[in-house]
Amino acid sequence: MTAGSATYEFTDRVAVVTGGSSGIGRAVARRFGEAGAHVVVADVRERPRDADRPTHEAIRDAGGSADYVDCDVSDPAEVESVVEAAREYGGVDVMVNNAGVYRHAPLVEAGVDAFDRLYAVNVRGAFAGCRAAARDMLDRGEPGCIVNTASISSRYAQVGHAAYDASKGAIAMLTRVAALELAGSEIRVNAVAPGRVDTRLGDGDDADASAPESVEGWDAPEFTKDVPMGRAADPEEVAGSYLFLACEDASYVTGHLLYVDGGYAVL
Ligand code: NAD
Repeated sequence: MTAGSATYEFTDRVAVVTGGSSGIGRAVARRFGEAGAHVVVADVRERPRDADRPTHEAIRDAGGSADYVDCDVSDPAEVESVVEAAREYGGVDVMVNNAGVYRHAPLVEAGVDAFDRLYAVNVRGAFAGCRAAARDMLDRGEPGCIVNTASISSRYAQVGHAAYDASKGAIAMLTRVAALELAGSEIRVNAVAPGRVDTRLGDGDDADASAPESVEGWDAPEFTKDVPMGRAADPEEVAGSYLFLACEDASYVTGHLLYVDGGYAVL
């Protein structure tokens, strides 16, 4: 599957993408790079889980401009450092809070430590990203966009997903509250809600040695049987929605969850 043909223009803009080394974040970062943005890739690992070339180097190879900043989004101070680093290029115009981890465990077997860790990355990380970016935009008196990565899990319950689905439900509400509070300051806040996307998310949390190898690829029949289109998405098929939500064509769109899910949300 190739990237879409819609062209976006982000020249002289700065886009921060957390979790930008791999999977969806990598595809999003590369599309912003192609669209002319300076891209700050923020991740706990520079080396992608699913490719050889680090994302910022791939963007540069393609003629774009990008940096990598080591950042564990569960630490708000590290997220603030990333936003501070972006000031060198003029400040964050687009903040993509995408870093996330996944665990599969039946509720009665799920551990509180694992729950806390998942929440720290998926929810506290996105909260810290929204807050740091919004403060920066307000300080500079500039408009901006925040795009969070939600999920079909923001709305649809799945067996074994107590912690994960709760975390993505929280992203939906974080997005809406942030949109409401920032609407009068020309800062739009939206979320992309992917369905099954063929990434290495199921490999677990790099920073948590106790996290098991949890699931096989999302393109396995077990995961795609409920998808009306009958397959998982390639990350490239999801990436364009982030650019749409961040571009001028979406200038009146805020607080929205855009499902990119092969029809999952129709059912
Ligand atoms: P992925 O594992 O390919 O990419 C996740 C990236 O986040 C990795 O580069 C990883 O190193 C990084 N990361 C993990 N913990 C981090 C931390 N504490 N700080 C900074 N970076 C961290 O997985 P993906 O599928 O591309 O996941 C990206 C986002 O998409 C996640 O929020 C995930 O919940 C969401 N999502 C994925 C799917 C899917 O089917 N793959 C569906 C819906 C939503």
